[in-house]
Amino acid sequence: MLHSINGMGKVLIVGSIALDSVSTPFGQVEEALGGAAVYAACAASLLAEVRLVGVVGDDFPQGHLDFLAQRGVDLRGVQRIEGGKTFRWRGRYEYDMAQAKTLATDLNVFADFRPEIPPEYRDSEIVFLANIDPELQLSVLKQVEKPLLSICDTMNFWIEGKRDELLKVLSRVDLALMNDAEVRELTGHASLLKAGRAALELGPRYVVIKKGEHGAVLLSEGHYFAAPSYPLPTLRDPTGAGDSFAGGLAGFLAYTGDVQEANLRRALVIGAIMASYCCEQFSLDRLRDVTHEDLLRRYGELRDITAFGELG
Ligand code: AMP
Repeated sequence: MLHSINGMGKVLIVGSIALDSVSTPFGQVEEALGGAAVYAACAASLLAEVRLVGVVGDDFPQGHLDFLAQRGVDLRGVQRIEGGKTFRWRGRYEYDMAQAKTLATDLNVFADFRPEIPPEYRDSEIVFLANIDPELQLSVLKQVEKPLLSICDTMNFWIEGKRDELLKVLSRVDLALMNDAEVRELTGHASLLKAGRAALELGPRYVVIKKGEHGAVLLSEGHYFAAPSYPLPTLRDPTGAGDSFAGGLAGFLAYTGDVQEANLRRALVIGAIMASYCCEQFSLDRLRDVTHEDLLRRYGELRDITAFGELG
């Protein structure tokens, strides 16, 4: 397995395409390639055909689009606004690297983003709605045919500002992806188990809670699974880790065409591995070179470090 793209499934990804300026204790970049949809597309395209929907200005370097096209990412859904400026995000991480401090968000052309799903994208098997306005997420769900699995991400901004719309999204998607702080805020439960179960009651068949360097958990009715994070000796920039996780998960599900619980567990581990590669370098500088062999090696290592035998 993982030797070639078997063409089973296509992944539709909708979200931000950005120029990121990021500083961490280990370095900094100015206006580097970023955006939630770009990280997810880069990770997913190692395993499946990706269809991207987003918006850029005419200042967006052609080389970045060429890079995605070379990975087989279908860019027919990327709108280029003449005379417009690309979305820019500036953030800083302190030493614990757990939480970005946002220094500036310049929405630019992203402010008027209205995702239009090209007709050729509508039969995508896996749909990943990255962190955008839940109203826009809903509009995408209305434009696609019944996918095998739809996945949504979100953030505190929407939990606080567009709760009703977000609840509508959650009642319609198959898998909700959130970090620990978000699921606690959404449900009002401090216990992650309780919060995860309460999120399931909002509609999705699966809830995945990302816990950064402490791994991720998968909840479904009556089931709980904990995936580890890969223990990284070199962590330079965690920007995009959550989106790389989502892209790895979505890409693997499309690659295998299997969205049953047992395979979702594997998909979480693939997501965790993609996130680990993302964090090793700034922007997509490590993620872009990951191979199937790299994935398989870390998959084996994660299995070994989490296996514990029977007692006695
Ligand atoms: P993550 O580190 O996984 O939370 O994702 C970081 C990526 O999200 C960066 O590449 C940013 O360009 C992008 N981003 C930051 N703020 C926003 C926002 N308000 N809406 C959409 N994307 C964003």
